[in-house]
Amino acid sequence: MSMNQQGRPTNAGKTTDTITNESALLPAEPLLFEIGSRDHTGVDLPAAPQHKSRLGTFKRQTPLELPGLSEPETMRHYVRLSRLNYSIDSGLYPLGSCTMKHNPRLNEKMARLPGFADVHPLQPISSVEGALEVISELGQWLMTLTSTHAVAMSPKAGAHGELCGMMAIRAAHQDKGEGHRSVVLVPESAHGTNPATAAFLGYKVKPIPAKADGTVDVAAVEEALSPDVAAIMLTNPNTCGLFEPDIKKIADAIHAAGAYFYCDGANFNAIMGVVRPGDLGIDAMHINLHKTFSTPHGGGGPGAGPVVLSQVLAPFAPVPFIRRSGSGPELVEHVGQGKSLGRLTAFHGQMGMFTRALTYMLSHGGDGLERAAKDAVLNANYLKVRLSELFSMPYGEQFCMHEVLCDDEFLKGTGVTTLDFAKAMIDEGYHPMTMYFPLVVHGAMLIEPTESESLNELDRFADTMLELARAALDGETERFTSAPLKAPLRRLDETSAARNPKLKWIAE
Ligand SMILES: *Cc1c(COP(=O)(O)O)cnc(C)c1O
Repeated sequence: MSMNQQGRPTNAGKTTDTITNESALLPAEPLLFEIGSRDHTGVDLPAAPQHKSRLGTFKRQTPLELPGLSEPETMRHYVRLSRLNYSIDSGLYPLGSCTMKHNPRLNEKMARLPGFADVHPLQPISSVEGALEVISELGQWLMTLTSTHAVAMSPKAGAHGELCGMMAIRAAHQDKGEGHRSVVLVPESAHGTNPATAAFLGYKVKPIPAKADGTVDVAAVEEALSPDVAAIMLTNPNTCGLFEPDIKKIADAIHAAGAYFYCDGANFNAIMGVVRPGDLGIDAMHINLHKTFSTPHGGGGPGAGPVVLSQVLAPFAPVPFIRRSGSGPELVEHVGQGKSLGRLTAFHGQMGMFTRALTYMLSHGGDGLERAAKDAVLNANYLKVRLSELFSMPYGEQFCMHEVLCDDEFLKGTGVTTLDFAKAMIDEGYHPMTMYFPLVVHGAMLIEPTESESLNELDRFADTMLELARAALDGETERFTSAPLKAPLRRLDETSAARNPKLKWIAE
């Protein structure tokens, strides 16, 4: 791979035979520093009047070295970059566990209404009653769908919701005089954020092995229970795409030991309207609005991870929360004499996400949400059956929930790895599936089509995947190991990028 003098990969080694070294209309965009120059500027302002500096030793001694660009140059840079970004609006996005589903445009229309989009968190309450009503109504839907007693709306992501729920659990133990409980049980197939959350709060993480069928072993949970255990953090449906059939037994065992049941509900899209987690004995569960209830979330945000709480944990919910009273929704901002765990974020949560999620719910209706969940599961099982022609699947004899899990057994002896396969998908115009997760499966490929995809689109994807698998099995190794051949920067060294990131442009 060719690098520039800053160590940044460039497209100079690209196999194009064009004069500009560009490939049709898909350019590899240089950095602003490479396009602009430090002795130009795109703006034409009169020189600043001279003042005596009051910054003392803090005054910058060297020039700022920012590149100067004209407005059209700047515009083109960002528009060209945006076109390099794959999105659910441009194609199927099979990232398992991430639930990249279509965000209906109605959601956007509602979220952009000035009364929601322009609301300021410090506005007088009397001027934001509509916004509070939306937050409150959304909270009611979440509690109804999950059969729970309270909801914390402010967490800003799934992982943040986990923190909130586990803090409520910690507060409940402390309230009972059992603050010494120091262990959290986490099944091996858990999302990485689960053990991270427990460890962040100072808990010792005790892994629970999975059974041969990919689900949690109740006997192993029972064996791990002790007066030191504060909680279990369990994902359902789990990250192998399977419903935990013994979840009720696990909940009963946890409660009998005086511990609480945290459920990672990021995969709620597979069961919403079908199963109410509260009925299964969960005490706290976050819901990723940005997965289950649409909302665009590629590129790392924004998100919203409200947490529903059982009756026993409800008193410990964080502030602020909304109380329904005769005169309309009322915002409770202060802990007062209550047992609330306190405040997690400065304000009330992500208004845009709330509006999108409630729009999604109201436009689907309760029956529509159930239908969406069932369609997501149907689509995944359709892909599972089609792909099973060539792909190996560790838990293949069971139906899956909303995602299909393959391993790399079928690639054995081909010289093609899961990573190579994913890179070849890019050449075919598909964003790769989730790779090497869950960790319990060798060379995992986790594929989640969601309910957004039509039969046509599912077939096109399955045909492409099978064709690629056939090519790998036929010994076309090179096509995989050197993929992607058609992406502007070809294959990047992801390990170096993560281990040795270059975050700063060094001016020569
Ligand atoms: C996405 C996900 C999370 C984390 O959610 P973020 O919003 O990315 O913090 C946690 N658990 C599971 C199972 C997930 O799929």
